[in-house]
Amino acid sequence: MLIDGKEISKKILKEISSDLRQISKNLGRQPALSIILIGNNPASETYVKAKIKTCNEVGIKGELIRFDVNVDSKILMKEIDKLNNNSEVDGILLQLPVPKNLDERELIEQINPLKDVDGLTAENIGFLNSGAPRFIPATPYGIMEIFNRIGVTLSGKKVVIIGRSNIVGRPLFSLMSGRGENSNSTVTLCHSYTENLSEFTLQADIIIAATGSANIVDGSMIKEGAIIIDVGINRVDDKSRKSGYRLIGDVDFKNVNKKASYITPVPGGVGPMTITMLMKNVCNAAKGVK
Ligand code: NDP
Repeated sequence: MLIDGKEISKKILKEISSDLRQISKNLGRQPALSIILIGNNPASETYVKAKIKTCNEVGIKGELIRFDVNVDSKILMKEIDKLNNNSEVDGILLQLPVPKNLDERELIEQINPLKDVDGLTAENIGFLNSGAPRFIPATPYGIMEIFNRIGVTLSGKKVVIIGRSNIVGRPLFSLMSGRGENSNSTVTLCHSYTENLSEFTLQADIIIAATGSANIVDGSMIKEGAIIIDVGINRVDDKSRKSGYRLIGDVDFKNVNKKASYITPVPGGVGPMTITMLMKNVCNAAKGVK
């Protein structure tokens, strides 16, 4: 069965909108998210545009702050500090990746953890790994919400996550293997050094592919009835499109779909959920998380 991320998102955004009306009343202003974009990486431009658009739709004041690709890190640190000290800014998001000449970790750590709606500061990663998350990074948050909304119980399930990044694989590992209402899975975290990937995926009740390698999971690698979450976004040439490309995931959709019990499409699966859960994090920040 196809998991319609857009449909699930719509429902959650409705809930968020009504929550936001109350928060705005309490604050006497709209909750606000500031997004810092450095350079003009085309994929980042697309993501940022979508984030700002969703902000406007739900009732968050979304502000985009742009910097040239050659900006000095001191200027960025100062800007982040200014946002940290601005009581009318609830969330700060540094759009990743940053250009190679900048120290991504240093910039992330400059963000006040109480405004770190991406959940990427060391403090927030620590909270997450201790089992008491403050802000859950939006993509893993969206995936956990998919399981909740389609009624999949994670307890006791064998899960394989492919990809160990700080924004997807690692937080997801922590969430799914943790104690909690819907976690308690047995999780294997695979990566590019994993030998014989199918040995792991064939055992899995749930496979989450987050690698950025197109078609890394094919039909022969999954067991009948597995649940497949495809996080990957890969551009492939497509001359029939005006843009000259189309987006595909990490999973060979056509063949995997024949065996899977549930599968997320690309686009329209995890992507919309990511933006939606970012909005949820901004809501939580505006409510004043501790
Ligand atoms: P990273 O590049 O940070 O991490 C990729 C991970 O995949 C690494 O751990 C890498 O292993 C592993 N990997 C890469 N190739 C293989 C392979 N052939 N076999 C096994 N493991 C492999 O990527 P991100 O986590 O940032 O993103 C992953 C994908 O998800 C991308 O396509 C990205 O665009 C997409 N994405 C989608 C989002 C959404 O909302 N839908 C949100 C965020 C990301 P190693 O560590 O050994 O290098």
